[in-house]
Amino acid sequence: MVAWVGFVAAAVTVGLWVRHGGFSSATGPGGRATAVGELTALVGTYAVLVQLLLMSRIVWLERAVGLDRLVVWHRWTGFATLWLLVGHVIFTTVGYAQGDRMSLWAQTRDFVSHYPDVLMAWVGFVMFIAVGVTSVQIARAKVQRHTWYFIHLYAYLAVALAFAHQFAVGSDFSNDRAARVWWIFLYLIVFGSILWWRVIVPWRLNLRHDLRVHSVKREAPGVVSIHVRGRDLDLIDAQPGQFFLWRFITSTGWWQAHPFSLSATPRKNRMRITVKNLGDHSARLQRIRPGVRVFAEGPYGTFTAERRTRSRALLIAAGIGITPLRALLDTFGPNDDVVLLYRVATADDTVFRHELREFARADNLRIHVIEGNEIGDDRTDLLGVSLLERNVPDVATRDCFVCGPPAFLDALKRRLAILGVPRHQIHYERFQL
Ligand SMILES: Cc1cc2nc3c(=O)[nH]c(=O)nc-3n(C[C@H](O)[C@H](O)[C@H](O)COP(=O)(O)OP(=O)(O)OC[C@H]3O[C@@H](n4cnc5c(N)ncnc54)[C@H](O)[C@@H]3O)c2cc1C
Repeated sequence: MVAWVGFVAAAVTVGLWVRHGGFSSATGPGGRATAVGELTALVGTYAVLVQLLLMSRIVWLERAVGLDRLVVWHRWTGFATLWLLVGHVIFTTVGYAQGDRMSLWAQTRDFVSHYPDVLMAWVGFVMFIAVGVTSVQIARAKVQRHTWYFIHLYAYLAVALAFAHQFAVGSDFSNDRAARVWWIFLYLIVFGSILWWRVIVPWRLNLRHDLRVHSVKREAPGVVSIHVRGRDLDLIDAQPGQFFLWRFITSTGWWQAHPFSLSATPRKNRMRITVKNLGDHSARLQRIRPGVRVFAEGPYGTFTAERRTRSRALLIAAGIGITPLRALLDTFGPNDDVVLLYRVATADDTVFRHELREFARADNLRIHVIEGNEIGDDRTDLLGVSLLERNVPDVATRDCFVCGPPAFLDALKRRLAILGVPRHQIHYERFQL
């Protein structure tokens, strides 16, 4: 449905260009190249707006599609945008150069010095390229996440810089009132959504609930639970299995928001997250002090009990992936039949040891802690096909909730499919966006 709305809006954008004579102007010297330049500009700008909308954290969109899938869509539209904008620059310059019988270099100089706001658009274009290049997988592996994030923010500036030249020289804007209204409508939707969902909604939530670190408890080596206190937290309606983007207001932490899942059902004045030391920020959180102000955005995610279709469930966690599953354990009742398989590197790394022991007292809940780090072969691995089949023979009749690092998730999804678990019974949370 969401994708359909996107396609229809793209069709309207192109349709308006056709309506005001886009095809018929593609004649004469350079006419075709100029027309392609116009089309790539329109579709490219539309793709930029879609990209921004996908990341504007619209809660209902996130619930319908999932934040991880939205991130993937955002990435793909990002690459399409980049190529479309490169196409726009090349085709427009070639088209005008042919029409004016100029060299490409002379045409570029002419654009910059005689066309309103084109210089600013060029600066915006270079920023888009920088954002695109640093988002390519290989480059991302080399750039620190927060460096990449700050470069990414330049996309907003790039849109602002390009916006002026669109209105000044874009034929869609200068010649066609309907197209102008349509584009203003698109900009208002996108920037209105960003303002509402990324600024107003989170500020309202945090002003209303006044979150602070209450206490910090060590759970295992390099893992702490942070208890957050606040007012009327039940009104947030966060579900076990969901996550928030958390910002801890310290001199080093206030500018970065990191996703952490709830590791217990929220109560009227408490929420709990459990954080493993996996990098700079999570290392600092191990030493966070009670009283620190917290700014949370969310709740996000659809890895909740609402996904359940059956009374039997299999929960599979690797490492710190136990956090949302621990919260989900709160949602099962005496008539449910639950198996939890929890993979840890060594027994000492088991998080929530005492809580899990308490849960295991119930007859309808089996918990197996499996030691071992590597994701081995489908057959020999302790969470491989043969052993899963032996330990949970009725696996195909269960809802399966899986959480852990991406490679673990991929292996488990494949193995559950081999064991005949239908796709709609496999639910997963990927600890990477
Ligand atoms: C939906 C979701 C739920 C999560 N829940 C938990 C949890 O309950 N407990 C827990 O310990 N960890 C959880 N994580 C992982 C946690 O967000 C990262 O470990 C943490 O952000 C690392 O930050 P860092 O600066 O310490 O490490 P870095 O060295 O910066 O990064 C370590 C890893 O975390 C990723 N990462 C870093 N910052 C972010 C960010 N802002 N958004 C997404 N990924 C990031 C990096 O890409 C890298 O793979 C969750 C991740 C996601 C996506």
